[in-house]
Formats: sequence, structure tokens, C-alpha cells
Amino acid sequence: MTEPFVCVRCDRDDPDRVERVPFPSELGERIVAEICAPCWEEWKERQMLLINHYGLKLHESAAREFLYKNLRIYLFGEEGTAASIDAGEEGSVEW
Ligand SMILES: [Zn+2]
Repeated sequence: MTEPFVCVRCDRDDPDRVERVPFPSELGERIVAEICAPCWEEWKERQMLLINHYGLKLHESAAREFLYKNLRIYLFGEEGTAASIDAGEEGSVEW
């Protein structure tokens, strides 16, 4: 018997699961294990906004670190300051 799955972010009971590990790392595995598909979809939209707003280049490791940090805050409620998306302001990133 499998344990019932509860998403750590939204506490939904038995939601749809993320089907594939989104990227090959411990964090990717954790997303599949702890986060539901609707929350993952929300993050993907947020991520797109961040990429566009900050002009992130994903081949740069600093850009990926920036996204992973924001992902952790967004999905896992980890400590830290989430990057804001302020339409009135040009985005800049302090690495
Ligand atoms: Zn969820």
C-alpha cells in the first residue's frame, strides 16, 4: 500500500502528481516527491515571468541558481527573499 500523497505546498489531498523529474538533481527529485502538478504548473508560469523580467540566460549557471533559489522559496517556503516582478521597474539581478 502506498502512502497517500499530500503536496507540501498547498496541502491538497491526493492531487495530480508531477509525472517526470523536471531536471536531474536532488531538487528535481524532491519536486516529484513533494509537490503536486498544479503547484508545479504555477511555478512554471512564475519562472517564465522571472526569466522574461530579468532576461535570464539559462545556459549561465548563475541564472539557474537564481531560479532554483526562487523555486525553493516559492514551492518549499524556504527562507529567503523572493525576487519581485515589478512591471514598473527594469529587473536587475544581484548575483
Ligand atoms: Zn500543491
